[in-house]
Amino acid sequence: MNAPQRPPNADPPIPSPPNEEQEAENACRGGGEITQEDGSGAAVATAMLAELKREMNRLQREIRLAIQAQLAQMSGRTLGSMEANRELARSIQEMLDAHGLRVRCTHCGHPAILRVSPRAGAAAGVFVFDHTIDGRRTFHGGRVLMPEIRLVAKPARRPRGEQKAG
Ligand SMILES: [Zn+2]
Repeated sequence: MNAPQRPPNADPPIPSPPNEEQEAENACRGGGEITQEDGSGAAVATAMLAELKREMNRLQREIRLAIQAQLAQMSGRTLGSMEANRELARSIQEMLDAHGLRVRCTHCGHPAILRVSPRAGAAAGVFVFDHTIDGRRTFHGGRVLMPEIRLVAKPARRPRGEQKAG
């Protein structure tokens, strides 16, 4: 019991896939470990990540514009019932969320979530922008027709320290 227990299969032989052979060779020459003495590996990785980031930003922008172009066709319309309008707003929000996007409030410009709220005299509800302004949940809009949709990036979460108490 005082000897450290070793599971019977502590070192199972791992067959290395073909594309790892190069690494294995380098490892042998380096004395059994992969080393980055000259730092070139890190430089290559940094450049690669920068390139990847540019590419992702470009794709993200294309996605944003593509979604916006489609949603533009819905503006000024209503689907005629509260359920249908709510389903529409929910679907839009789901899609935007998946791509880190929000709609821009047409009243104040803040990133917002499009919702449909009940309102007296509006059987199909009204479209509102749901957002937090100065720490308060705020609703803007309130038209029976779908507003113009402009997409913006979802704001980053504020660090704890910046949040106001209350
Ligand atoms: Zn607003």
